[in-house]
Order: sequence, then C-alpha cells, then structure tokens
Amino acid sequence: MSAKKIELPASIVIRDLAQKIEKSPIEIIKKLMTNGVMATINQSVDFDTAAIVVAEYGFEAVLEAQDEVVKEESGEVPLWRRLIADEDTKALIARPPVVTILGHVDHGKTSLLDALRQTDVAAGEAGGITQHIGAYQVEKKGRTITFLDTPGHAAFTAMRARGAQGADIVILVVAADDGVMPQTREAIAHAKAARVPIIVALNKIDKPNSNPDRVKQQLAELELVPDEWGGNTMVIPVSAKQKQGIDDLLEGILLVADNIDIRANPLGKVIGTVIEAEVDKSKGTVATLLVQNGTLESGDIVVAGRSYGRMKALSDYKGRPVKKVGPSTPVAVMGLNGVPAAGDVFQVVDSEKEARAIVGERADAAKTAANVQKKISLEDLFANFKAGEAKELNLIVKADVQGSLEPIMSELAELGKGEIGVKVLYAETGNIGENDVMLASASKAIIIGFSVQADVAARRLAEAEGVSIRLYDIIYRMTEDIEKALKGMLEPVIVEKVIGRASVLAVFSASKLGRVAGCRVTEGELRRNAKVRLLRGASDIVFEGEMASLRHEKEDVREMRTGFECGVGFKNFNDIQVGDHLVCYVLETSS
Ligand code: GDP
Repeated sequence: MSAKKIELPASIVIRDLAQKIEKSPIEIIKKLMTNGVMATINQSVDFDTAAIVVAEYGFEAVLEAQDEVVKEESGEVPLWRRLIADEDTKALIARPPVVTILGHVDHGKTSLLDALRQTDVAAGEAGGITQHIGAYQVEKKGRTITFLDTPGHAAFTAMRARGAQGADIVILVVAADDGVMPQTREAIAHAKAARVPIIVALNKIDKPNSNPDRVKQQLAELELVPDEWGGNTMVIPVSAKQKQGIDDLLEGILLVADNIDIRANPLGKVIGTVIEAEVDKSKGTVATLLVQNGTLESGDIVVAGRSYGRMKALSDYKGRPVKKVGPSTPVAVMGLNGVPAAGDVFQVVDSEKEARAIVGERADAAKTAANVQKKISLEDLFANFKAGEAKELNLIVKADVQGSLEPIMSELAELGKGEIGVKVLYAETGNIGENDVMLASASKAIIIGFSVQADVAARRLAEAEGVSIRLYDIIYRMTEDIEKALKGMLEPVIVEKVIGRASVLAVFSASKLGRVAGCRVTEGELRRNAKVRLLRGASDIVFEGEMASLRHEKEDVREMRTGFECGVGFKNFNDIQVGDHLVCYVLETSS
C-alpha cells in the first residue's frame, strides 16, 4: 500500500499537526519523545521531524509550496499584516508609518524619542507637555509619523520585541562612540524576524571619540550595508543631545515609508495591537491601542487577548478626547474588563455575545494546553533523555512572557551551532516550580529563568538535588553565560545552601534587642553569622537578612542545633509572628 501524501509547512505547531492527521496531540507528543524530541502542544517542529512522525501513521510528507519571501526569512508574519493582506486592494489607502526605536542600552533611545517628540511644533505647546500613552505622532512635511514609545527599561523587555511586530520601520540607534553591542544585534534580530526595514540612527556624533566609519564597518558585517557604500541601509548621523540630524532622520523615515507598502482600509475590519494596558483605580483598565486597520469608534465592542468591553473615553496621545481613530493611530481607551498584554492583537466584534464566545474559546484553549502539558509523564521524558546520553547542554527555559521566549530561543539556537549542542527540553512562561526542578534533576539540565523567580519549594528542591538555577533579566547576559558554560569556563556562581530551619513558638520584647523570636530548631542548625529568611504562611518571605542576636537561655551563642530552643533577633526587623518559619542559610560558590 502506498503512503498517503500530506502537505506540511516548513514548521508546524504540534496542535495543528495533530489536527491535520486527526490524532490526539498527546499521541504526537509521545511519538516525538520516543524520537528524542521534547515538545509541548504549542511548540512547533520542523518539516523533517513532522515528516518522521506522520510516516508512523502511514503518511508521506511533502513540503508545502511557500511564497519566496516567507521562505527566505524566519519569523512569522504578524496577524494584522495577514489580515490587511486579505483586504480588497482597491480599498487600501496610505496610512502613517509606525516607527519603533531599538538599540543597546545607553545608546540614546530615550533621548532620541524626546528629540523627535519636540519637533512636533505644530502643536505649539511650550515644553511639549504630552501624556505618556506609549505612542505619539509627529508631523513632517504635512505627513504624520507614529512613534511607539516603549518604556525606557535598561533591560530588554517583551514590549520592545513586540514593538518591532507592530511597526513598519525600526530605527536602530547605535552610539558612534560605542559601536555595535549585544543588544544592537538583538534588535537587528527582532527587526528581521518581524520583516521590518531598519534605518540606523548613528547617534552621539557630537562626541569627540565618535567613530562613524568603524560603526558602518560593523553594520556592514551584519548585512546592514550603508547606502553610501552601495548597500541599502540608510545610516543617518544624529545627535539626540544637540538635536542634530533629527530632520534628516524624519525625512529618511518618509523616504523608506514611500518604498514599502504602508496601507490600510479605514473602512475595513477594525484590528490592531495593544501597546500597553494597566488598571487605574478609578478608571478601570486604561489601554493604549494602535489601530492598524479600520476605524475604531467610541461604543465599539473590542476583544483584546482574553478581555473585552465597550470602548469609551477615547483620547489621543495628547489626552484630547476623540470620537474615532483610523489606521496607524494610537488611542487611549477605557472599557475593557481585564488587562490585555502588550502585543496582544485586538479586534472589533459585532456584539458582546460574540466577544464572550471568543474570550471563552481562548480561555479553553489555554486550559487544554495546560492540562496536556501536565499529563506528559516525567518518567517518559527522563527515559528518553538518558537513552540518548548526548553531549549537550540541557536547558529548561522559563520566562515571564511569551514575547521574551522567542528571542531567547533564537539566541540559544545560535549558540547550539557549535561543537557542543544546546538542547532546550522545554520553554514556557511562568515562575520556576518544583516540576521544573525535578525534570532538570533527572535530565541533568540547567534551569534558565528570564525575569521570573523560583518559588520557595523549587528553591528547596534545587538545593537538595543539586540543580542549578540561573536567573537573568538581560538576554545578552544569559548568552554570555551560556557561551562560557559551553566552553567549560563558567565562573562559579553563588548559591544558597540551607543549613537549618526553625519554627517561631513565641515572640518576646527584649528592651535592648527589640523583638525576639522564641524558636525551636527543627532541622540542622542556626548559625549566628549565617543569613536568615523568615517565612509566613505557605511562601511569603517577610524578612531576609541577618540575625541581630542568637541566644540560648540568656547566653549569646554562635550556633544552635536541632531540638533546642533559642531566641533570635533580626537586624532592623521586628514584625515577627508566632507560626513563622525561619530558614538559616549560607552562600557558597558552585559551578
Ligand atoms: P537609552 O538607554 O538608549 O534610552 O539611552 P538614553 O537616551 O538614556 O541616553 C544614555 C546617555 O547618553 C544619557 O546620558 C544621554 O544624555 C546620553 N546621550 C544620548 N544621546 C546623546 C548624544 O547625541 N550625544 C551625547 N553626547 N550624549 C548623548
């Protein structure tokens, strides 16, 4: 019997693969595991892997025909672009370009955004007092440019990555005195993934030690060849501080905008991206939305992520009330019943009923995904893993938001191209829990946490099992660290070793010592010069620091062993309660 042919794309999400061959995702995940591939229902596998799986069910996979552009670059076309592509081309008209500014920390992103904002003379406002809503607009030559003004975090944030997704043009700020740095590369990767053209703002040219040619050379090496060297990347010298070159930059933006298709249908389906959202005590959810197609009007029912509501109190980036806004326009709105995430797509629907149905479906999908993930037996994972005994660095990656995972995974993929591979057992959002540690322990993996924390139980287990947990806030720090690990050069890190635990049975007031916890040591020992943490309830840490005193029957002591009672005072802390738990630990170096 000849195999049935089935068309598969270059990469496919497990859920979709399962649907295509009408099997349960769990079955597919198990099949993948027996082939040594760990994947969750929401992760995708490449064509070759999918082909092996479907072959087991009697299918012959053929690569789906794709259009050239899609094949050439990695990353996904943002949903809003796909939707605009579905619009009737006759209905599309030009809209303002949406620009986001990316670059290495301290290269001048914030300063440049400020300088650009001040060029908005049309408003004629002294001091340019504008409301911060995460986006603003500037007029140049009678044309409007929309800037996404992401918060000036030093660390890379998901917002910045997503900014590239919502933008038509990325301005890459590179300081002329510093050159290409890790976050510059990161920014280039985001822009490429989002298929957004890059204009380089060569900043700080006022500095005596600036070296524009060196930077251009570096950029050329990264396939951003300056136009003056025959390439097609605009490199515009500016000084955000002295407000030089700002007009050139604006003109550059309009020039690039003219060369790409920046259009939308103001009468079409209303869709866009959430720029930021927060809860205001008196106003409820206040969100900034960037309309990308259609016209958003007061009274429209919007679904954004897993929240929905009737839009009211629309206002522009200057805080002025507006009734409706068209494509490429940022608008602050009220009325959502929850807080969507920055980067979520929003859309207008016909009724609240429809909105509820969409939100319900999304909640169900998330629940199913979570259940399926839980059901993957750890034993299966371990067994597979051990069988391979590959020479690879195994990682478990946890990050705060999905948007952080994407750039982390692409960095890790790069790193894994060397002699020693990097294998990500799984990557998910959320804090590090016991499950993660168990898996890491059995598979000799390191846990990487990005802008997340390890909960108390996980920390305890990690310590008992000798699992290394590494926490980062900045991607390039993580990259550097892993690079070192791969070279076997990882510097020792400081880890916590618990040496004792005690329960608080009573609280005393000692005139000289402040309040003192009357404790019984339940495990190990307490040491006067070690560190202590006071826990309340399941996991609340109410104090972390040093002891001010350790006494046994009015005698100062250096240590106190299991079974004994003692008084413990804490440095600058008095809020002790009966029932609190005390953990005593030392910091040790480990690799
Ligand atoms: P960001 O971290 O990329 O947002 O960078 P900032 O805008 O906060 O700028 C970092 C530092 O560089 C600040 O001290 C700025 O004053 C300084 N800076 C920014 N642009 C220029 C410039 O064009 N020339 C000089 N000399 N300093 C600049």
